Amino acid sequence: MNFGLVAHRLHRLGPDCALLRWARLCEPGLRQLALQLHATGGAHDTLVINDLLRNQLVSVGHGRDGGLMRLVSRAAGGLSPQTALNGVFFFIDPVNPTSMYPETQALKRQCVIHGKPFVATLAGAIEWVAVELVCAGLTENPVPQSQQSWALESQVVALVAHDALKHDMMAFASEHFDTLSRFAGRVATGTTGKQLNAMAWSMGWPASQNWVTCYQSGPLGGDAQIAELVLDRRCQKVIFFEDPHVARQHEADIQLLDRSVYSAGDVTTCINTPAMARRWALAMSLVGMP
Ligand code: PGA
Repeated sequence: MNFGLVAHRLHRLGPDCALLRWARLCEPGLRQLALQLHATGGAHDTLVINDLLRNQLVSVGHGRDGGLMRLVSRAAGGLSPQTALNGVFFFIDPVNPTSMYPETQALKRQCVIHGKPFVATLAGAIEWVAVELVCAGLTENPVPQSQQSWALESQVVALVAHDALKHDMMAFASEHFDTLSRFAGRVATGTTGKQLNAMAWSMGWPASQNWVTCYQSGPLGGDAQIAELVLDRRCQKVIFFEDPHVARQHEADIQLLDRSVYSAGDVTTCINTPAMARRWALAMSLVGMP
């Protein structure tokens, strides 16, 4: 498996930066998963200097030499099957100007279009490795500090789906109703939430209770309301099935929600596609109740 790897300066400087914390915790797991990391200059050099993941690194060059643009091509399939990426880890600092560069946005977009994980936070990157190890049956060396991932009872999940993906969200939520019901709370944007509550009542959830708390519809500010919960660390997982194929009138709000997740990246994870959500749910069912 190949993954892109990028880290903004904030996340690759200093002995306790997110990139090094992740690499130290996940090195054995990443080795077991035989993951090749196509890393841009700064992330690559930081790992080499710290003697981490050495045999798994492929350099794609610094940003100014087009490293990030190469990753976009490879997320879309690249120039040969050997360099095609299965997903991307990008430790994003939302106030780093490059977080708004076209290549950064294109990288996420190509991942979403091709159903590949775009993992942009420390908590998410730790969880992704833990989930993949469980799904592969490689449980002898679990990722340290991944317990938070399995402790749904102390977390709140946000569920958001654009119109073309609402059907996928309802299918996912009904298939994994018991897992999603374990969360301490569920929140959603208006229209997604209304449909989710109707689904939950049809599955036997008490008619007097909402299964999810509904905020405004996305275009009316629901994404921003959920972003405030994320920033307050009152929502730790965002499952957002976004439609990358249409012009979105509330693009700014969608990006705002993403950026709130990056701001609270030590505790918040984001799942962008139905494929990634199913993989996570499979791991949850294999691990079972704590
Ligand atoms: P909706 O909003 O659930 O109200 O459709 C989703 C969105 O567009 O972000």
